[in-house]
Amino acid sequence: MRKRLIAGNWKLQNNSSQTTELIGKIIALTAGAGGVDTVVAPTFTSLHAARAAIGSSGIGLAAQDIFWEEKGAFTGEIAPAMLVDAGCQWAIIGHSERRQYFGETDETVNKKIKAALKVGLKPIVCVGETLDGRESGKTEQIIEKQLVGGFKDITDFSQIVVAYEPVWAIGTGKNASPAQAQEVHAFIRTWIAKNVGKGAADNTRILYGGSVKASNAAELLACPDIDGALIGGASLIADDFSAIIRLSVEK
Ligand code: PEP
Repeated sequence: MRKRLIAGNWKLQNNSSQTTELIGKIIALTAGAGGVDTVVAPTFTSLHAARAAIGSSGIGLAAQDIFWEEKGAFTGEIAPAMLVDAGCQWAIIGHSERRQYFGETDETVNKKIKAALKVGLKPIVCVGETLDGRESGKTEQIIEKQLVGGFKDITDFSQIVVAYEPVWAIGTGKNASPAQAQEVHAFIRTWIAKNVGKGAADNTRILYGGSVKASNAAELLACPDIDGALIGGASLIADDFSAIIRLSVEK
């Protein structure tokens, strides 16, 4: 049985006090909603405030990115152990915005996953095709390339979460239909079964991300291979994010 996971990617939004306020509202609005893992990913500078606001509520804390070196002359970067020190248990890796604007490649994704696992951070690894890729019928080819490169030499999937995020659906208000999402999720699960093992395929949570809202979450989450959601815009609205958490019951 795969426990549902609802993760909020807060991107470059909210200072420390706004982060504290948002977490407080989410805790209040989701009181008693069990059977689902909730994770939030604020900016690096709000991690400490977020940790304090989360308290004993059980909400997980994620970094939006991670670097693979432990220390050294890497101006501007943050080491995996520093994220643990700041209270993170999770790290989003390979988000399409990192790939698009910051030169993230499957190779750097691979290094980041390994670095996260080494310090006990659970990676949420994003894959997804562009609109061009989908329209030219290359969705599976693109996803497979990202999986092969990103997970090179990684055989233990016990801590891994995969997020399927079609680039054309992120922040556009146009989500993949449940059928489109399910098709790719099933493809990813089959890839894990063939390349890692059946146990890993059965147990790995695969999240859908791309314009998930309170109004479309239930039909997406009803798909057999969709185990949760990675949510941008709607996760910044306490009422909407909390509604999605509440409607996510254990599979
Ligand atoms: C995201 O950034 O991961 C995302 C899915 O954003 P949105 O929900 O706003 O499409």
